[in-house]
Amino acid sequence: MKIRGTILHTPDRGQLEVLEDRVISTDSRGVIISVAPYTADCQPDIELDRSVVLLPGLIDTHIHAPQWPQLGTGLDEPLERWLFRYTFPLEARYSDEGFAQSVWQSMVPKLLGQGTTTAVYFSSIHEAATTALAETCLAFGQRAYVGRVAMDHPDGTPDWYRDLSASGGVEASHRSIVDIRSLPGNTGLVQPIVTPRFIPACTDELLDGLGRLAESENVLTQTHCSESDWEHGYVLERHGTSDTSSLQSFGLLRDHSVLAHGSHLTEQDIHVAAEAGAGVAHCPISNSYFANAIFPLARALENGLRVGLGSDVAGGSQSNLFRQCEHAVTVSRMLEDGVDALVRPEERGVSNSRIDIPTAFWTVTAGGAELLGIPAGVLAEGFVFDAIAVDIGPNSSVDVWPELDDWPRIFEKLVRSSTATDITRVWVNGNEVTPSSGTQLPSLQPS
Ligand SMILES: [Zn+2]
Repeated sequence: MKIRGTILHTPDRGQLEVLEDRVISTDSRGVIISVAPYTADCQPDIELDRSVVLLPGLIDTHIHAPQWPQLGTGLDEPLERWLFRYTFPLEARYSDEGFAQSVWQSMVPKLLGQGTTTAVYFSSIHEAATTALAETCLAFGQRAYVGRVAMDHPDGTPDWYRDLSASGGVEASHRSIVDIRSLPGNTGLVQPIVTPRFIPACTDELLDGLGRLAESENVLTQTHCSESDWEHGYVLERHGTSDTSSLQSFGLLRDHSVLAHGSHLTEQDIHVAAEAGAGVAHCPISNSYFANAIFPLARALENGLRVGLGSDVAGGSQSNLFRQCEHAVTVSRMLEDGVDALVRPEERGVSNSRIDIPTAFWTVTAGGAELLGIPAGVLAEGFVFDAIAVDIGPNSSVDVWPELDDWPRIFEKLVRSSTATDITRVWVNGNEVTPSSGTQLPSLQPS
């Protein structure tokens, strides 16, 4: 396939590259084989409108699929109470496969329409619902990692929503890996991922079993790590060490392991995680509600840690990853300046913490891809063609003033103000996966 358009992307962290009027050629596997200036003899299959630009697809490295129905609600409690009051009761409903199907069928096309070409999902503890989620991603063509959640600790989980035993949890996670890998037509677009919820929800026996499972099946792992005062403090008390070194002791800190949040990582934790090849899914909106602190993104990147961006639906109130980019910049400014006016300015913040829009965009594309170990996030030779076409014309949400705006300013405006309606086409692995506007739930009566 050949597609003609202007490319905006960030192959190097913090560096916007603009390639005007290029032709991208892909092979039958969806891999980009060349990016060349347009010439009259190119004969592209697709010519994008002049008001449309081409960006790499967005990568959500942390999203809870079953929490989709509570997106934008219930953010009035601290994490430990939010889980028991709102989240575990909702997740428990996914024992009903019909309910699960209705959510997945609504959610996956909406995410694709917002430009989320790759998603790293926590599912629920239910095997059938988890397999159905993987099937739905495959059907709509979304690149995905789908993890059956494992959780068995009687203190950190309710008795009506947990694995009945550690060995039962490991076996169910093993079956889920096999089921996802063997889905008809799955040539690797949808991958399983070993998913202990977080240390407070898991017994040591379960953590140990899942570490062995990840090793024997050679799958990625994801979990929540040093998220909040309560969660970080709980692990210090139970294991006498931080989440990061505890996870390492159970074999759950591996190359490309996804650690959600990491807001309370110490310098030593960042070093240990970076050495292991693991990285953080930075979830800036969710962190503003639940983390009691701001993840030091700039410092983590300086120290060589892999970092992607996550929506953390529904601890994060926005599934749109452009909103996460904007918020990543906002919270980095707040970390740098501090927030309490009663503290003297020189003691109020953490210097050298702020990031810019190109850095945030890098984390949601190339950075997320590096975290997961996939050749995506950049529109260049050798990368998969996961891309979105974004309208920046007069009828879009992006107000461009040609006499004032150069490409860096247009790019900033695009990231800060574009909406899903401005995303006109979406591709994953070279296949067009633009959701049709007719995909909707049947109308529901409020309960
Ligand atoms: Zn989460």
